[in-house]
Amino acid sequence: MSERKTLAVIVPFLNEEENLPLLYERLCKAMDGQPEDLLMIFVDDGSRDGSARWVAEKARQDARVQLLRLSRNFGHQIAITAGMDAVDADAVVIIDADLQDPPEVIPQLLAKWREGFEVVYAVRSSRAGETWLKKFLAASFYRVFHRMANVDVPMDAGDFRLIDRKVVSSLRDVRELHRFVRGLTCWVGFRQGAVFYERAARHAGTTKYPVWKSAKLAWDALTSFSGAPLRMMTWLGVLVSLGGGLLVIRLVIGKLFGHVEAVPGWTSQVTLILLLGGIQLLCTGLLGQYVSRLFEESKKRPLYFITERVGKRWPAP
Ligand code: UDP
Ligand code: MG
Repeated sequence: MSERKTLAVIVPFLNEEENLPLLYERLCKAMDGQPEDLLMIFVDDGSRDGSARWVAEKARQDARVQLLRLSRNFGHQIAITAGMDAVDADAVVIIDADLQDPPEVIPQLLAKWREGFEVVYAVRSSRAGETWLKKFLAASFYRVFHRMANVDVPMDAGDFRLIDRKVVSSLRDVRELHRFVRGLTCWVGFRQGAVFYERAARHAGTTKYPVWKSAKLAWDALTSFSGAPLRMMTWLGVLVSLGGGLLVIRLVIGKLFGHVEAVPGWTSQVTLILLLGGIQLLCTGLLGQYVSRLFEESKKRPLYFITERVGKRWPAP
């Protein structure tokens, strides 16, 4: 008898009680007939509704289900990390709980994995049910990140992806606090492939990623993968100094050729002072952001705490 491989599906969730039962059903159905054994690890990221209760109940009935409860809301990226730390499977798939990532795509991810790809990301060819602002910001972010970061992150791929055991174990060694899992899975290398899918609208409930939270993730992504904003500060400094230099030359030449400086000039002075003051504050602030990242990382706190684990014990890493 050949050893069957295992696939662990990691579902990070925050208040998704209306979505979890359907997700569970569709996951089981999608994996029906696949040669891999299915495990489902639901990571509760500090939910306050009945979702954790529902998963705990399921975990008692179905040995393939496990509930991992974090001690509070640590954020989506950390919840994914907790899931990856908790299970030893041949491959994992990360999927959102709101059914925006259709579980029916998983067999395609698996097929690509069997071909030998070690990271298979699901790239959204369309996104339904999201505001134009979010779509616009997401599209701009992927393009800016692509240009600035020193990793080649595929555009328009979310966290929905399959990751091979080798890659998961490499990711376990990366303990940075401000994590951008999408970036990290590319940064570690290995053989990467993609499948395309249509992103559905949320099945029920509201987004847990309002624009400000998405902006924070984007900022975390940029600052943890790229020093480009710091370099841009330098260039801004060079540009302003050049402008200043040209102005000085013009003034000196004017003076030498007897041009009498008009006394008013108040508007231009105030404009320059405000402009330069603004640029300086902006740059100091940006520098501060990197310093505060350093400060937070240097504390080396654990990424999360687990308060409860329900379900059959699986092989741990
Ligand atoms: N989520 C989480 N912790 C958070 C925010 C979100 O675990 O602090 C989960 C959420 O329940 C969902 C997934 O992360 O399963 C993606 O969130 P959401 O669908 O709200 O984001 P969107 O798809 O709108 O960007
Ligand atoms: Mg969603």
